[in-house]
This record gives sequence, structure tokens and C-alpha cells, in this order.
Amino acid sequence: MEKVPELFGSMVFNDSVMRERLPRDTYRALRRTMALGKHLDPAIAGVVANAMKDWALEKGATHFTHWFQPLTGITAEKHDSFISPTADGGVIMEFSGKELVRGEPDASSFPSGGLRATFEARGYTAWDPSSYAFIKDKTLCIPTAFCSYGGEALDKKTPLLRSMEAISKQALRMVHLFGHHDVRFVNTTVGPEQEYFLVPEEMFNKRRDLLFTGRTLFGAKPPKGQELEDHYFGAIKTRVSAYMHDLDNELWKLGILAKTEHNEVAPAQHELAPIFTTTNLATDHNQLTMELMKKIARRHGLVCLLHEKPFAGVNGSGKHNNWSLSTDTGMNLLEPGDTPHENAQFLVFLCAVIRAVDLHQDLMRISVASAGNDHRLGANEAPPAVVSMFLGDELTAVLDAIEKDAAYDAKEQPLMKIGVHILPRFPKDNTDRNRTSPFAFTGNKFEFRMLGSTLSIAGPNTVLNTAVAESLDDFATELETASDFNAAVHALIVRTLKEHKRIIFNGNGYDDAWIAEAEKRGLLNLRSTPECLPYLIRKENIALFEKYKIYTRSELHSRYEILLDNYSKVMNIEAETMLDMAQKEILPAVESYERELTETALAKKQLLPQAGRMVEERLVEKLSALSCSFYQKMDTLEAALVNAREQKDALALANYYHDVVFAAMQDMRVDADQLEATTAKKYWPYPTYSDLLFGVQ
Ligand code: ADP
Ligand code: MG
Repeated sequence: MEKVPELFGSMVFNDSVMRERLPRDTYRALRRTMALGKHLDPAIAGVVANAMKDWALEKGATHFTHWFQPLTGITAEKHDSFISPTADGGVIMEFSGKELVRGEPDASSFPSGGLRATFEARGYTAWDPSSYAFIKDKTLCIPTAFCSYGGEALDKKTPLLRSMEAISKQALRMVHLFGHHDVRFVNTTVGPEQEYFLVPEEMFNKRRDLLFTGRTLFGAKPPKGQELEDHYFGAIKTRVSAYMHDLDNELWKLGILAKTEHNEVAPAQHELAPIFTTTNLATDHNQLTMELMKKIARRHGLVCLLHEKPFAGVNGSGKHNNWSLSTDTGMNLLEPGDTPHENAQFLVFLCAVIRAVDLHQDLMRISVASAGNDHRLGANEAPPAVVSMFLGDELTAVLDAIEKDAAYDAKEQPLMKIGVHILPRFPKDNTDRNRTSPFAFTGNKFEFRMLGSTLSIAGPNTVLNTAVAESLDDFATELETASDFNAAVHALIVRTLKEHKRIIFNGNGYDDAWIAEAEKRGLLNLRSTPECLPYLIRKENIALFEKYKIYTRSELHSRYEILLDNYSKVMNIEAETMLDMAQKEILPAVESYERELTETALAKKQLLPQAGRMVEERLVEKLSALSCSFYQKMDTLEAALVNAREQKDALALANYYHDVVFAAMQDMRVDADQLEATTAKKYWPYPTYSDLLFGVQ
């Protein structure tokens, strides 16, 4: 086996490959383009394309594709081979600068949320040189942005890149105010921790709910769940460990910094965390990670479930988005410093985040909204649907002292004067204890914990970057004109804390008392996807995104439509799958068991005419009553689906699915799960929770 350092990035056209293979001038021009997000000179694109092709051919590639992230939430690719015919009837392998820089996939079947009705039907993909090309399945993949001919973004990547530019620009103004004139740009960095489940493939294949919807729509609680917490960080099973090694190897080849793999709280649940990197790369890498997780699982006879809630009553899967800001000179702007001056800068950036999260709770919530994630948020696990921020007791005490102009710690820190005093150290342990907070400061970064496991991290980071860019913009404007800089910084911090500290909450986010308290503080509690989505197209949100050129009004409207539509479609597929399984699998299974019981009872009666009421009779009675009730609930759900067609618009439809259809599904499930518990195992038509959760040895 190859050594890891040789393996790492071996399938990536990365910096060292570029340096080695490109003429010096071309390399320099490309680096400049990458670092500053400038347009690529067409003259150099040809040279780069040719070098890329030679490299890819040496690695065994035969095809190339523009690799992009449409609004379906997964990645898309359309493979073209390198071959080009020659006059003598043969072929040569070609790849032009034009093909590298621009592609024209047939965009008509990607969701556009109405954008295509008003604009040119086709879209094009454009190389994003800030993300390296790589080889996957013998195909050279060029990371690209995907736009309509009118320039509207049809993907998740374009707004993310725009938001990175916006926050860099504003953060730059701020670090320059603090005297760091050598800084040329500021990157947001992200390390997404990815949770997932592994189940045996042969059992997965027997469950159409998992096949069609990614989650179990039925399933009685197993006798053993996660209550003993013996799985968390427990020894990794041999088969799982072989999978993880294989996965790490494939990820490393693609230059993905997979770092830690461990078991999670629920049985069969695991986590992978990479080392953090620039947000756009982290986004590409996370998409690739999810894709490889699924693909490699099959090699091991396993299926990787990325659904946010595959099993009711068992912990769901999330994705923790660790986020920070760092300068090209290597400064982490959310790291408390060693000098009063550095600390003042840290506090200003911290306040920008506090203000951003408080002002844009709705957008934060929307950025993680989906039918699947609704099962987690606010459902007594993961973080609640209320957005709040955890800062830890010590940092909160310091902020309190600054706000009130009081002593932080009478003995050691008399009065915190900005620009004069050094902040106390915040031990990491103290800042990382609260696992219930949706948005937690963890020493030198924030951890946004509301993301569901399937979600692309592009959306949440676009919101976060834009919201913080706005606060930095407002702050910089204020400080740039101040006559006494330190005094102005002090006043700004005090005012921000006064106005926005309601968003800070260090207590238990799962507690009902918090929900009541949050309401008193005026924080939003948007419990479901249909409830939160309308906030996306509010006038102030359109204004925010337009101001920083992240989304146009029509792009926002299109996303709103797509999200609503997706929600209703997911619910509809789930409901139809339930009915289908009920009709074709559950009822026939129960009937077979009833028949066996009835026959046994009759035979026993002949044999033992004096015997009293038999177990078989009682069981048949119970099953019969349950299936009657179940059948009625199936009728109700069916009628609900017919009624769905009457809804007048996309929002009404989504609300209807949430209020009526989902409720009917829940109802049906209760009976099905009781039927499962009462029916002999040999009759039950699909693997149970125990089979799925404890089936991998
Ligand atoms: P743990 O939570 O296991 O103690 P860390 O807090 O160090 O580990 O890291 C958790 C995740 O946060 C990792 O993916 C890590 O790379 C990422 N991370 C660490 N520092 C930063 C940073 N400055 N910006 C973004 N992500 C970071
Ligand atoms: Mg973490």
C-alpha cells in the first residue's frame, strides 16, 4: 500500500502539480486569479487545460466533466471524453481552454424555481479556479459555478463565492483599521463534522421506505436503543473499521483532510471530521465526502444513510459547521489575542457575529430547513429550532463587565478597558461543554450545529458570511470616522451587547423552560420548514442579499419556490410509500399470521374441547382490531393526499402537507408499529430496527 503522504492529493491538480507542470508565467497568472478571485485570461486557459489533460491521461482518465452543485442539493456532472477525430480516422486526446473555462450542460431538468420561465432556458457552467480540479472514476472533474444566460445563479456555489467576497471585503476594512495593512484578503474557514449511519445492505434492500425516502417510515422501538450510551466513542467494529480505512484512503487521494472517525451516540451511527479549510473547498470536499461515503459502503456490503432522521426514537444525524475567519497572513480573527490591541480586534469581530446572528435568526433557521431536518430541530434532540448563541460563562462574564463598566473579577481584572486590558484566557474545555446550543463559540471558532447531515454546507455559510459582512460593514463605517479609535471601539462593543445580548444563552437548549424564556426575549421559534420559508422573501432579507450582491430578488424567489416544492414532494413520496407498504406488505403479513393463529386455534379446540379461551384467539382479536384501525388510518391518509390537489399555492400546499398529511402519517405509524410488535417475526415483511441497528458486526 502506498504511504499516506504520497497518496494524499494524488488525484488532485493541486498547487504542487501546477507548479511542476505549468510554465512559470502561466502558473503565476493562475495563482493570482485564484488568490484574488480574478477572471482567467483566455490565453492562459489553453495552456492550463493542456497541462491538466496530460496529467489526467497519465492518471488513467479518459473523460472530463464540469462538476457543479445545482439546487437539487447533490452534485451534477456530464461526462465528455477527451477524444477528437483526426483526418486519418483515428483519434487524439484533446482538451481546450474553452472546454476548461466554460461548459453548457443541458440545464432544463435542473430546478430553477421559475428563473427559466423569464430567462434563457439554458445555463452554463464556469470554472471556479479557486477550487482544484480532481479525478474521480477516470474522469477529470472541473469544479464550476452554474448560471443562467441572464447571469442568475442556478447553483449553491455561486452565492457562496459571492458571500466570501463580501465578507472578505468588509473584514479587510476592519483589520486595516486595526493596523494590519499587510492583509490582502480574509477567508472564511470551515470544518464540517459529518454524521452518518451504516446498515447492512441486504437489510436495506428489503425496506422500500429506506430505498425511496432514506428513512424508516415504520419501525417499532427495539428493546435496546441508545440508552446505555455504550456505542459513543466505543470500539469500532471490524467491518466498520475496514470501511473507514477504505474511505479515508479514497478521501486522501482527493486531497480531503479526513482526520477523525469515531462512533456516535446511536447504535450504527458514526462521524467523520475533516481538518478545516477555506469555505468553498470545504463545501466541495463535503459533497465529495458524502458521495464517497455512500459509494464505498456498498463495497463493504453496507449502506450509508445520510438522512437526518433515519430512525424514529433514535438520535438523528447532523453536520456541525465549524466556522471562523482567517487572514491570508495566518491570523484567526476569532481567536482571543495576547495583547490588548489584539483583544479589542477579537471583541469587535465577536460582536459582529453576535449582532449578525441576532439580526438574522430567520435566515440562519431557513438555511438549515428541510423536511428531513424538521425531525431533529425542536424535536427534543439536536439543537432546538430557536436560534441562540453559546459563549460560555467566562466570556459572557467578561462581556457583561464591559457592558456595565464593572469589574470582571475584583481581584485580578479591575475594569476591562478596551485597548488597555488583556482578556483572560478561556480554556477550551469551558467553551465546549454545552452540546445543546445551535451556535456555540468553541475557543477560536463558532460551531453552527443546526445543519442536518444531508445538507450542502453552501447555504448556511452563504447566510453566515453575508450576515457577518453586513455587521462588519456597519462597524467599519462607524470606526473609520472616529476621532478616538479606542473609545469608539469601546462604545461600539457596549452598544452592540446592549442591543443584541438577548441572543446569548448558555443554558440547556433542550429544556422547555428555554423555549418559554426565548419567547420572552423575542427570539424566533420557527418550528417547521413551511413556517420559516416565507421569511426568506421578506423585504429586509431581499434588501440584505441585494446590498451585498449575493442573491437578486428573482434568485431568492426561485430558491423559495424550490424549497417549498421540495418539501411537498418529499412529504408526498413518504406518504405514498407508506400506503404502498401498508397495502402490499403489512396487511398481507398480518393476515397470514392471523390465518395461522386461527387454524391453530380451531385445531386446538378440536383436540381440547374443554379448554377455555386460547392465546391464539386473543391474539387474533388484538390483531384484527389493530388492523381495522390501521386500515381506517390508511383511508384517512389517502383522502388527505387527494385533497392536497385542492391547495391554492405552493405555500398552502407545504402547510397542508405539514399539518394534515404528516399528522395522518404519524397516526398510521402508531398502529403499524403495534402490529409489528404483535406479529411473529417470521411473518414480518421487512427487517426491524434491531436488525438494522445491530446488524453490522
Ligand atoms: P473537537 O471538537 O473534536 O475537539 P476541534 O474543535 O479542534 O475538535 O475541531 C472540530 C472541527 O472544527 C474540525 O473539523 C476542525 O478542523 C474544525 N476547526 C478547527 N479550527 C477551525 C477554524 N479555525 N475554522 C474552521 N474550522 C475549524
Ligand atoms: Mg464539534
